[in-house]
Amino acid sequence: MKRKTRLICIFALLICFIIGGCASQTDEEKKIIKVGTNAEFPPFEYINDEGEVDGFDMAIMRAIGEEMGYEIDIVNMEFKSLAASLKTGALDAVAAGMTVTEERKQTVDFSNSYYGAVQSIVFKKDRAVNSLAELNGKKIAVQEGTTGDILVTPAEDNEVITDSSTEVKRFKKGADAIVELKNGGVDAVVIDSSPAHSFVAANQEDLTYLDLSDTEEFYAIAVGKGNQELLDDINEGLERIQNNGVFDQIVDQYINGNTVNVRQTSNNPIMQIIYDCKYVFIDTNGYQLLLQGLGVTIGISFAAVCLGIILGFVIALMKLTETRKKRKTVLSVIANIYINILRGTPVMVQLLIMYMIVFRSNMAYLAAILTFGINSGAYVAENIRAGIMAVDNGQMEGGRSLGFTYAQTMRYIILPQAIKNAFPALGNEFITLLKETSIVGYVAIQDLTKAADFIISRTYEAFYPLIAIAIIYFILVWGLTQLLAVVERRMRQSDLR
Ligand code: GLN
Repeated sequence: MKRKTRLICIFALLICFIIGGCASQTDEEKKIIKVGTNAEFPPFEYINDEGEVDGFDMAIMRAIGEEMGYEIDIVNMEFKSLAASLKTGALDAVAAGMTVTEERKQTVDFSNSYYGAVQSIVFKKDRAVNSLAELNGKKIAVQEGTTGDILVTPAEDNEVITDSSTEVKRFKKGADAIVELKNGGVDAVVIDSSPAHSFVAANQEDLTYLDLSDTEEFYAIAVGKGNQELLDDINEGLERIQNNGVFDQIVDQYINGNTVNVRQTSNNPIMQIIYDCKYVFIDTNGYQLLLQGLGVTIGISFAAVCLGIILGFVIALMKLTETRKKRKTVLSVIANIYINILRGTPVMVQLLIMYMIVFRSNMAYLAAILTFGINSGAYVAENIRAGIMAVDNGQMEGGRSLGFTYAQTMRYIILPQAIKNAFPALGNEFITLLKETSIVGYVAIQDLTKAADFIISRTYEAFYPLIAIAIIYFILVWGLTQLLAVVERRMRQSDLR
């Protein structure tokens, strides 16, 4: 009875989690438009102190939404994936400081442009760069798929960068390119002027920039090709906010008034470490991002473990029908297919399929819980099956000769022993799952690993946030190991071995 109640509680919790997730993400009252961005492009888009996507573009989109009666739902993803997501319909619009180019016009439609920019070269103060041509034959970091990338990639029609020995290192985020520059991996970063200015402002001690005045480009909001209705609304909204002064207020707030936290420095190395930690975790609110991420990692792992256990039991019992009947059964064939497919493909691929194809880029949390739960189910099933097979055959015979049915013998005699047998392997599976969830950042979930990523983007400091999350993961796994050891000890209390 007690065990049953416990199981029901876990199941109810899981259902609440899932329903909660769905409810918070489906709000049908207002017309919602899904706006994609890449929150790695300050001051146009970045993660603010509260861990939310914020910036010039977001403010513009919200103001347009207010004018035109849309609710704006922001989706944060890689810059490179934005245009493709418009095409699949996963996004309705893109506001990401996206430059209008002839090539992009083939796949998306652009609104009227709202901002003019140029490209900039960011370099170390002690290794000055005076022109783009000087970068020929050097190492350059860029943000993948951006106009900066196009400008410096050696190609036949590239008039400036012609030397094919020029090495272009492509990063998903501008901030990572800056970290590479600071670490000495490249000679310069080529990126849009506004983020270049933000990056340099935050690294005034060692970096500076050169604006390339002849590389003018214009930002616009993109919509799916042919989505004229939305495009017209966005253009109208844009015009209205440009006329009523709201646009200028947003420029003032985000571009002119963009302040950066100043980092203290000291000649004493110990003091410097303390100042650096203060800057990374406190001044820029890194601790808050880590705490939020920790909650997400624990939540997703817990829900997925519960789902994995339930599915694992069901699948193991389905597969066992084969042992019992001594021939393949429909259930065992289904169980085998399930196990083979899930063990045979990387969980990363499963996550992307679940999120992008099954959920069409909606309900990321639910997609992640289902992916990890279903994936883990395959491993749990095999662990439990191994546990059951390890129980001596005589136990089943004994149970049956006492008058128990097959199901009763399973439940009262075999499974309790099987779980004990399988426990160490199950523990391993939970630990693996907890660490595996660190890939959820790929579907725009802000877990612990992603929190470190954000901190790096905000502080250009990779060491402290990465060491911090490594320690947190270690403590989590250590805690889980202790917990599993206690449970195992209690389970084995009656053992004579
Ligand atoms: N303006 C650049 C482009 O469109 C970079 C935009 C971005 O990285 N968000 O390629």
